[in-house]
Amino acid sequence: MTDLLRLSRLAFVDSYEEGGTLIVRAKSVRHHEPYGCCLLFSFSKMGTKAVRYCDHAIQGQPVWLEIKRQRFRCNSCGKVGYEVLPDIDTERRITKRFREHLQKDAIKYPFTMAAEINGVHETLVRRVFDEHAKRVLGKYKPMLPRVLGMDEIYLHKKPRFVIGDIDQGYESTGAYFEHEALHPSHWMPLPPTPTE
Ligand SMILES: [Zn+2]
Repeated sequence: MTDLLRLSRLAFVDSYEEGGTLIVRAKSVRHHEPYGCCLLFSFSKMGTKAVRYCDHAIQGQPVWLEIKRQRFRCNSCGKVGYEVLPDIDTERRITKRFREHLQKDAIKYPFTMAAEINGVHETLVRRVFDEHAKRVLGKYKPMLPRVLGMDEIYLHKKPRFVIGDIDQGYESTGAYFEHEALHPSHWMPLPPTPTE
């Protein structure tokens, strides 16, 4: 049978329409027991709960995966938790592949358009984008020189804007700086930062 889901850890059960939305029922190929409980990693099954997760629209039709999520009870402390679904962002109630797709669309299009194209609420697009931006930009540390030189210059018959690190000397910043007109004497340092 064709794998309609294309999620290796979930198996297709059946599908039906509900008010213009396609509901795809799926189940885990293997149940992943909840993490982070007691050292004695022992659980008992304790019923299931059907939960819906938003996925890619198919030919403009919104799609929700409906998964009977297995509930477990820890045999040591009695804590109850649900099976882990590696393909799903259970907090956002969305498949991880769809979340990644939304992240890309949120960069490409205005949020309202990304929401409309994907048939989701704008709030979800914003939230998904914010998390993505935080993760990517969290590691970004801009390296700025102590004194930043800026100038405009006519070079190779074109007006150009040049920028560079005054302290490091211009030679290190690139070939342009060998040009006589770009000698450090032509550079104007930024005004010093006021000290308190
Ligand atoms: Zn426990």
